[in-house]
Amino acid sequence: MLDLQDMSALERRLSQRAPSMRLTRHASMADYTTLRLGGPADLMAEPADEAQLRVALESAADMGVPVTLMGRGSNLLVLDGGIRGLVIRLCGVMNSVEVDGCILRTGAGALLSSAALAAAEKGLAGLAFAGGIPGTVGGGIYMNAGAYGGELGQATERVEGLTMAGEPFAYTAEEMAFSHRRTRLMEENAVVTRVTFRLAEGDREAILAEMADLKRRRAEKQPLQQPSAGSTFKRPANGYASALIDQCGLKGLRVGGAQVSEKHAGFLVNLGGTAADFLQLMAQVQRAVYDRTGIWLEPEVRIVGEDAPALGV
Ligand SMILES: Cc1cc2nc3c(=O)[nH]c(=O)nc-3n(C[C@H](O)[C@H](O)[C@H](O)COP(=O)(O)OP(=O)(O)OC[C@H]3O[C@@H](n4cnc5c(N)ncnc54)[C@H](O)[C@@H]3O)c2cc1C
Repeated sequence: MLDLQDMSALERRLSQRAPSMRLTRHASMADYTTLRLGGPADLMAEPADEAQLRVALESAADMGVPVTLMGRGSNLLVLDGGIRGLVIRLCGVMNSVEVDGCILRTGAGALLSSAALAAAEKGLAGLAFAGGIPGTVGGGIYMNAGAYGGELGQATERVEGLTMAGEPFAYTAEEMAFSHRRTRLMEENAVVTRVTFRLAEGDREAILAEMADLKRRRAEKQPLQQPSAGSTFKRPANGYASALIDQCGLKGLRVGGAQVSEKHAGFLVNLGGTAADFLQLMAQVQRAVYDRTGIWLEPEVRIVGEDAPALGV
């Protein structure tokens, strides 16, 4: 267990060095994730700019406080015991979106929907697929988010950021090593601050119509009215996770308040449960699919934080 005195010391230091940075003690992660689950983070910082982000990273590194990074929280399963140390949240901050010819530059905290819409409004093609992905540009770049045949890596020219020690870096698309839902950042644990996309001239009305069509298709297939983190499992080498789960008759399977969506078997939805319910349901789905098909489903959601301590009597 982290010493809470340390967090007070870190909070004081951050308030002194970046007085306008938003800090929240014991931030309930259920309020900051689309799954609406998870215990409190010891301290959450929402830096307004790169200078504040650097202060947060350097101070935490100096004081030996672990850092967890998040964007919109749309791919996170935070455990019931919450997150020890400092959570840095880049969502709705560092969120500029600028178009210059065929180049779109965004801050990491911009929503993918805002970036995709800004491109479409200027008649730029290449990001329409991302309009319905409910995360930030930073969170999307981290794992090369994609949908309907498109992936962010295909449109990316340059990714800038800071290492966990606060040192700047810049990668070309090639250096990012984008592959299916993977990038080098998943090994390096660095913070994306800005992304440059190179798009193609297109027809504004046609791009907006494509985005509206994809939005309609999502609403038809996905349980968008219920809290979820999107697809819970990665696409296996052969087939789709949702089809395998459906074939095994697992739609509607429930553990506590966690359920395999009745509408889309790839989504696990929160009907008022705990992270522990989700972990159990995920394990049941993995086992059942493996027993029937021999395919082991790997989680796509990022599981962070720690289990709630067992209550002693
Ligand atoms: C209804 C629904 C539909 C979805 N549909 C899709 C889909 O079609 N395609 C798809 O790919 N995903 C989909 N998702 C999942 C999710 O939206 C994406 O994975 C998204 O890219 C996550 O972004 P985020 O900002 O929410 O990141 P978070 O969930 O906050 O974080 C995810 C990971 O990214 C890291 N991260 C966040 N910000 C940064 C940063 N600035 N620098 C470095 N690392 C960072 C975090 O540390 C964490 O490991 C869906 C989710 C939901 C709820």
